[in-house]
Amino acid sequence: MAQLAEQRPVPPAGDGRFSVEVKHVSKSYGEKEVYADLHFQLLRGTFVALAGPIGSGKTTLINMFAGIERPTSGSVTVMGRDLSTMSDDQLASFRARTIGLVPQSQTLIPELTTYENVELPLRFLKVDRDTRRKKTEAAMEKIGIREDANKTVGTMSVGEKQMVSFARALVNDPPILLLDEPTEALDPLMAEVVLGILRGDNMTDGRTIFVTTHDKRITDLARRTLRVGKKIP
Ligand code: ADP
Ligand code: MG
Repeated sequence: MAQLAEQRPVPPAGDGRFSVEVKHVSKSYGEKEVYADLHFQLLRGTFVALAGPIGSGKTTLINMFAGIERPTSGSVTVMGRDLSTMSDDQLASFRARTIGLVPQSQTLIPELTTYENVELPLRFLKVDRDTRRKKTEAAMEKIGIREDANKTVGTMSVGEKQMVSFARALVNDPPILLLDEPTEALDPLMAEVVLGILRGDNMTDGRTIFVTTHDKRITDLARRTLRVGKKIP
């Protein structure tokens, strides 16, 4: 079972200081217990890294923050909303408005272009056409992939896809950004672009960033680094 180092006692009811609050969370896959009675708070506007060996529960945690995985018991509260009270549809729309997720495994649509993939969350939220174009172009610009706008994602390298995923996560300017090993598949040049964005004031100022990583360059940037314990047997 994974344990987060630097756990804190359960705070009083949500007072807006936290982007994410995890209370009494247990998570098992069948017999495998990944978390038991986990408590954790992510302060609003902070930049926290989570390090830990492969198989220690990092992706599971990020997916519970995003409401993609539900805990076996306990509650995950994001921006004051208890995710366990939401249906899958409500969760999907809450996620699109609140969370930018760069998942560890690609979730882009290979038949669509870069532009279309980055634009998807805005279409899902029925954002009007002009705003969609403006935001999609701004996100591609920020990540430096404007020239790939019309490339079909299925033909791109793993690292290039990761950058598209990054732009898609930022397109709606979400208050929370969750990155699951974001520099793992990147060459040094692309990793620098990602680091530059994470370093930039526009990102760190006000936006809550939670990133799982083995990359020392990222943990050096983070305000604090948590560690999950051992690989789950
Ligand atoms: P990490 O991201 O730190 O590598 P994960 O959160 O992906 O770790 O996995 C933690 C543990 O949970 C691992 O032992 C993994 O095999 C198991 N696990 C993760 N997802 C599933 C799943 N969908 N079904 C069964 N076991 C899973
Ligand atoms: Mg993982």
